[in-house]
Amino acid sequence: MAVNLEFDREHIWHPYTSMQNPLPVYPVSRAEGCELILENGQRLIDGTSSWWAAAHGYNHPLLNDAVTAQLQQMAHVMFGGITHQPAVSLCQQLIEITPAALTKVFLADSGSVAVEVAIKMALQYWLASTTPEKTRLISLRKGYHGDTFAAMAVCDPVDGMHDMFAGILNQHYFLPPPQSSFDSAFNPSDMLPLAQLLAKEHQQIAALILEPVVQGYGGMRFYHPEYLRQARILCDQYQVLLIADEIATGFGRTGKLFACEHASVTPDIMCLGKALSGGYITLAATLCTDEVARGISQSAAGGLMHGPTFMANPLACAVANASVKLIRQNNWPAQVASIEQQLKQELSPCQALPAVKDVRVLGAIGVLEMRQKVDVAKLQQQFVELGVWIRPFNNLIYIMPPFIISKVQLSSLTAAMFKVASAS
Ligand code: PMP
Repeated sequence: MAVNLEFDREHIWHPYTSMQNPLPVYPVSRAEGCELILENGQRLIDGTSSWWAAAHGYNHPLLNDAVTAQLQQMAHVMFGGITHQPAVSLCQQLIEITPAALTKVFLADSGSVAVEVAIKMALQYWLASTTPEKTRLISLRKGYHGDTFAAMAVCDPVDGMHDMFAGILNQHYFLPPPQSSFDSAFNPSDMLPLAQLLAKEHQQIAALILEPVVQGYGGMRFYHPEYLRQARILCDQYQVLLIADEIATGFGRTGKLFACEHASVTPDIMCLGKALSGGYITLAATLCTDEVARGISQSAAGGLMHGPTFMANPLACAVANASVKLIRQNNWPAQVASIEQQLKQELSPCQALPAVKDVRVLGAIGVLEMRQKVDVAKLQQQFVELGVWIRPFNNLIYIMPPFIISKVQLSSLTAAMFKVASAS
């Protein structure tokens, strides 16, 4: 049966869109490997991994098997007073692959909730300490951490996705984002705003939250890892926790398993999501150190005050277990390095196009920053006509394809980007 597009348009919210003038939607009936198959049979090569999540592509036999096998046992069971093997195996794997000091895992149901939990962890840690007045956060301009309220309060308050709520949200400190780009020489003056703020206000500051190395939805900016390294040192100096939001960057996307590794930094709290479950079922995780967990556990509440109904959903944990195993088996460094090299080669001619301001590539992420904001509906249609699925936003045309993409498929994506950018 064909999707009732009229019903969809009249009654269903889509992400970040209006009910009066919604952006067009394309009915997808199947997805396989690196392709989305539209209801009309057209095949689109996917450049998005469904927003960074489907790192192994769609309809993967091993991931399908993991869900099917788990379904025979139980789809869900509450996590209060109960535990299960899918959750235990997943947390074992996460502790093995993340920096050694991260030893405690909270399984959350979406990236935004993982950020909420991270913020709550930081606040509870200090509330239980001898310095309970440490209740404010530091974030970076151009940062993006999710759509729920505590997460929105640490997104860029001026030109981020949630700027209209700026007067309503909890007030935190925002710093200019690092200007030294990933490949350039590091300019030590990038550290001054953080150093000055911490020197002045550290008594009130609970944590610094940032997206390590790649600021995603705030502009697809790739900044210098030295910023992260020195931020860690400053946080230690002033007793401020460091929260790394690796929801987009985690699981190899930037060329390291976790972006913090570009700077050999261990955060106190780390958020994971998106590719965690291979793009199958919503799942996220917040990891923390023994020290953070110890502090929280001796708070008056006696524990971390969070416990969603679908916490540690067994189906999601089972597929995440299979996905993390695949990441570890699949030689992701070679996959990502090969995508990076091809992106660099094939996107560089875009630099000469008048509408293109900058071309940048890091790991399996390729970005065209345009001089003007793009018309999303128009470009989306152009891309679909060219047989690819790429979803631009603001002034950015960018891809982060599944790691299993073939060279020929990736060339189709980069050729489409060049063509659409040329016509812009
Ligand atoms: N943090 C970052 C860095 C993200 O990219 C996102 C997702 N766009 C989130 C948090 C929120 O994740 P979710 O959409 O799963 O709530």
